Amino acid sequence: MLEALGAYSVDSVEAADVVVFMTCCVREAADVRLYGQVASMKNIPLREGTPLSKRIVAVGGCIGQRDGQELVDKMPHLDVVFGTHNLASLPTLLTEAVQKGGHRVQVLESSTEFPTDLPTQREHEWAAWLPITIGCNNFCSYCIVPYVRGREKSRTIEDITEEAQRYVDAGVTEITLLGQNVNSYGRDLYGEPRFAQILKAVAGTGVKRLRFATSHPKDLSDEVIALFGELPCLMPALHLPVQSGSNRILKEMNRRYTREHYLELIRKVREVRPDIALSTDIIVGFPGETEEDFQQTYDLVKEVGYGQVFTFIYSKREGTPAAKMEDDTPREVIQERFDRLVELVQAQAYEQNQKDADATVEVLVEGTSKRDANLLVGKSPKNQTVHAPIPEGRTIDELAGTYVSVKVDTARTWYLSGTVVD
Ligand code: SAH
Ligand code: SF4
Repeated sequence: MLEALGAYSVDSVEAADVVVFMTCCVREAADVRLYGQVASMKNIPLREGTPLSKRIVAVGGCIGQRDGQELVDKMPHLDVVFGTHNLASLPTLLTEAVQKGGHRVQVLESSTEFPTDLPTQREHEWAAWLPITIGCNNFCSYCIVPYVRGREKSRTIEDITEEAQRYVDAGVTEITLLGQNVNSYGRDLYGEPRFAQILKAVAGTGVKRLRFATSHPKDLSDEVIALFGELPCLMPALHLPVQSGSNRILKEMNRRYTREHYLELIRKVREVRPDIALSTDIIVGFPGETEEDFQQTYDLVKEVGYGQVFTFIYSKREGTPAAKMEDDTPREVIQERFDRLVELVQAQAYEQNQKDADATVEVLVEGTSKRDANLLVGKSPKNQTVHAPIPEGRTIDELAGTYVSVKVDTARTWYLSGTVVD
């Protein structure tokens, strides 16, 4: 959209006439950072030769949606605010700000179109993210997402399949389907979830690798689980956020499943795909979490054996039900639990990677290592990062976006390394 206006991207704020912040407000840290960064724009001089009399600064996304006018009240040098539902208005808002000056604040209640109807540019020509739903209906008690992204809306099966086919025809070999809860895809359109149909339809485009995120345990169906054994393109990796291992806390979180149900899902998934790599999200320090509750989370992690765990310290979000819950656990206690969990998670990631310590894995090459330009870096089917020396006579430009076989010889916590054999 910005390129259509004649804009192009630059590497530094100093060189930019227009700065657009796309924001997240899931946790407080991002909030704090945004205010600091927008404030700092004032002190950075404009580049020489710019036709503008001031740098145009815009804030969009979830914080824009939540705070709207308040942002310009607090930061008068901010020019444009837009929300999650009107990304399409950004070019108009920026143009008006340049031509007429003053503040342009536009935040809508709900979306009229899917973001994918807008022009897109992909980071890699061989991989695509494909949103199948936007919004969320789950209202987990700690989470701000439903308030800033609106109710869950699904795109039609035809739309999604057509887009996926277009990507595959253009050379994309890896598609990741996206939604806050992909498992409930279609409920709003068809009266029942149709995520399994979407997986089959997208597999039918001939895509080599298919992934999805995020999957809510309360809606993960046996039909979807079975597809891990039926669709060769469906990669053996499942991100299934558990959040807590304590039934009492899960209830307070409004997650609508139990520890037992979750563990049963894991058992079923492993029955279908014994080699599957599992990952999860966990919140430590939810209001009222006791040592016993935490211990249940710790034990669950130990029992499942994850390849990767995203750990978060609970962050109070105003406007959510959890923000009103009594929260008197001392910060140090929460931090100590968090550190204990991270230690376990790292040991587990190492242990899981050992399973592939002398495997041969197919790797989708993404580029070279930041530390060593002679090493190629890519992803295994389980989504592990894999390093290998670039074979003699080959260049990264010809390898990027292709698949190579790597014979692994070393498995570490965060990556596998080996040599290209094919
Ligand atoms: N829809 C996805 C996740 C979206 S947010 C799902 O339900 O799994 C990504 C992760 O951020 C969540 O899984 C949760 O672990 C974490 N998160 C959300 N709100 C949070 C909060 N208030 N404090 C700490 N972590 C939070
Ligand atoms: Fe937030 Fe829960 Fe929706 Fe995920 S499912 S986005 S955690 S409300």
